[in-house]
Amino acid sequence: MGEFDLISRYFHRPARRSPLGVGDDCALLAPAAGQQLAVSSDMLVEGRHFLSTVAPDRLGHKALAVNLSDLAACGARPLAFTLALSLPSADEAWLAGFASGLWALAEAHGCDLVGGDTTRGPLNICITVFGEVPAGRALLRTGARAGDDLWVSGTLGDARLALEAFRGTLELPADVFAAARLRMETPTPRVALGQALRGIASSAIDISDGLLGDLGHVLAASGVGATLETGRALPLLAAGAEICEPHWALTCVLAGGDDYELAFTAPAAARAQVEAAGRAAATPVTRIGRIDAEPGLRLLGADGAPLARRFAGFDHFG
Ligand code: ADP
Ligand code: MG
Repeated sequence: MGEFDLISRYFHRPARRSPLGVGDDCALLAPAAGQQLAVSSDMLVEGRHFLSTVAPDRLGHKALAVNLSDLAACGARPLAFTLALSLPSADEAWLAGFASGLWALAEAHGCDLVGGDTTRGPLNICITVFGEVPAGRALLRTGARAGDDLWVSGTLGDARLALEAFRGTLELPADVFAAARLRMETPTPRVALGQALRGIASSAIDISDGLLGDLGHVLAASGVGATLETGRALPLLAAGAEICEPHWALTCVLAGGDDYELAFTAPAAARAQVEAAGRAAATPVTRIGRIDAEPGLRLLGADGAPLARRFAGFDHFG
């Protein structure tokens, strides 16, 4: 199977929301009038961003999901994506699996695959997504203000639980491991929630490197600090919270990585609107703290006293 057979067999379907997709030198995109184009790239490298044990269909899902998650964080609606693929060989079973996971998520979000590049080399997947957002209404990292509430979507720490089980540092019951592994390998990009939060959230980011690290980017960009109440029901994989010792559970939630949930801020007066947005997007949202004028991140324990252990700077590859 040559390069062009491979592309036409696995990666060429008619574009539905774009004037021109795969097959020419460039794709053509047509964002609607009054919309800005939101663009983001994410690369996945074997051994660094995924384990060789992942099933190809899950990898196809994840490669697109992590990119859609960036659109979600900006409140953008997915439009199209490109796929640059480096493959050790044209393994048809692998390609069929990878393409099926990729297409399933792409179609669920009405996101056209409009082009890319295919080359032989170490397994490496780079996707660029294009979305549209009404001009001036994208959710940014710069908008958090003192007094805002701090929120997070879904649950955190599940992917880290699975990773530690793979590494052998944590032993999980089979059903917990399967659930955590599913979250690690097939994250859910919070695309509907991101769009529902436009005009409500003051800032947003997607959590790819762990809550504390990513929240730190928002605080720095907005010139504010935050107090995070770890005693408030921090949303961890329900089964995981019981099987882990508490410090481990907190580490997974605060510094886990690979969550692809949204962390966002909103004025305290908008609590009901945030909850309505969560319901409209069928996505749980939890209030976990507040934004302060004083820079830095303060962690409070269940008793309201500052936590002694520092999680900031935790290296999830360490
Ligand atoms: P060029 O020589 O102009 O770089 P290529 O020969 O690499 O184009 O690719 C031919 C066509 O197939 C182009 O439209 C390109 O965007 C598309 N394409 C290549 N690889 C992929 C892929 N992995 N997924 C989707 N489209 C692809
Ligand atoms: Mg090319």
